[in-house]
Amino acid sequence: MKNRYQRTRLAVQIVFFVLILYISVGHYLAEKHIAELPGVASLHAVCPFGGVVTIYNLVTDGSYIQKIHPSNLFVMGGLLASLIIAGAFFCGWICPLGSVQEWFGKLGKRVLRSHYNKVPVLLDKILRSGKYLMLLFVIIQTARTATLLFSNFDPYYNLFNIWTDEIAITGYIAVFLTIGASFFVERPFCRYACPLGAITGLFNSFSLINIRRRASTCIDCELCDIACPVGIDVSKVTVVRSPACNRCLKCVAVCPTNENGTLATRAFFSRKSDTRRKEIPARIYILVAALAFLLPIMISVFVGAFETEKT
Ligand code: SF4
Ligand code: SF4
Repeated sequence: MKNRYQRTRLAVQIVFFVLILYISVGHYLAEKHIAELPGVASLHAVCPFGGVVTIYNLVTDGSYIQKIHPSNLFVMGGLLASLIIAGAFFCGWICPLGSVQEWFGKLGKRVLRSHYNKVPVLLDKILRSGKYLMLLFVIIQTARTATLLFSNFDPYYNLFNIWTDEIAITGYIAVFLTIGASFFVERPFCRYACPLGAITGLFNSFSLINIRRRASTCIDCELCDIACPVGIDVSKVTVVRSPACNRCLKCVAVCPTNENGTLATRAFFSRKSDTRRKEIPARIYILVAALAFLLPIMISVFVGAFETEKT
């Protein structure tokens, strides 16, 4: 069951990585008049963060910022629903930049072994504030300029457009730094600089599904703390509410007493006592992934709100 979570997560990560790659390559081919692939959009049109950064302009003068459309609000709504249901699940299961960092991290782990992902605690705490500062900076600057200013620094956008001539020098630097740092630290961009991650993590405090530890069967082996890639002391809490958690469920996978359901994802709204609450099956996460990303796009296409730029 626990490894099934990890297998399901990897499958979901690969599906979304391939989907985003298809969209960005298809957009490039259409732009260069080489080929028209079905269902292709620009990356901006399917980005939930586009919905977040255009809110100020939408509220104040009813306009959308450059390259952002009503469909971004649908995608943002889907993300919001997934955050309320499962916390920062989007980061650990869907975001292709998170997946790429994680995959490069596996390489780093093999080479560096016990030296991988060893950030001094104080430095880690200081650097974690970076994503909140980044969020503030991006929202203020985007509202001021009404342009997608962050795309020049965004490793996600630039990685999936690296073969085009749209990339600024800052974009190459952002990709290089993110991939390079992933060899040493688990998901460095998610952890220290992602403005969307600054928002998603806040939902871990009150999501409907969360990771719960049953103290009565826990043997305090601390394997969950060792497995956690972002340094959360899972063995010290009853419910994982840390904003750093990306719901990767690696802690759940290693718990040796899990046949007793010691560490599991459970619905917070269940009326049953903690010992009788049912574990959330992996397939529910597939549904949440579809809800978070694919369903809003389909709805926006259905109601005629989906727009994208060819160039
Ligand atoms: S607490 Fe568990 S689910 Fe959250 S990041 Fe750590 S290992 Fe992943
Ligand atoms: S891995 Fe399981 S048994 Fe060990 S400390 Fe964590 S919750 Fe308790």
